[in-house]
Amino acid sequence: MPRERERAEEFAALWQALDQLTDPEIPVVTLQEMGILRDVRRGADGRVEVVITPTYSGCPAMDQIAGDVAATLRDHGVDGHVVTQLAPAWTTDWMTPESREKLRAYGIAPPHGGGAAGAAVIQFASTSAAKDRPAVHCPQCGSANTTETSHFGSTACKALYRCLDCLEPFDHFKNI
Ligand SMILES: [Zn+2]
Repeated sequence: MPRERERAEEFAALWQALDQLTDPEIPVVTLQEMGILRDVRRGADGRVEVVITPTYSGCPAMDQIAGDVAATLRDHGVDGHVVTQLAPAWTTDWMTPESREKLRAYGIAPPHGGGAAGAAVIQFASTSAAKDRPAVHCPQCGSANTTETSHFGSTACKALYRCLDCLEPFDHFKNI
């Protein structure tokens, strides 16, 4: 878990500021809660490096995230830069339980899993395998009687669903 990662004492103030940064697409959750903020360290050249891992390759929010981190470094007078790390790839398992609750409260069905035993099954995204996927519960009424209406929702990381009970459409943050 990223938040249990050892945090260097010299970066305590910087961490405190970085922990306030929110996801540009889902403003109720922070980058730390999403598992996007990976590390703050000193690079080989002595400069500070803030390591981030995008939730999705080609995620359009990454430029803004990198910009927000860079601005935070400047605000703290830190000579540093942003390092985008693609391996290991981001996974929804890095999301904190708190962030899943916040997504639900925000009206987005959170991804499955979250450290529960047996939940870390690799799923290959295929709409034809929809019947094998665990039920996505409606964030409005909690019903499992839902259907995917589009594999691509408001952003690439989300799929559009509709609840067949309360008829509300909602986003589901895909499992990655
Ligand atoms: Zn519903």
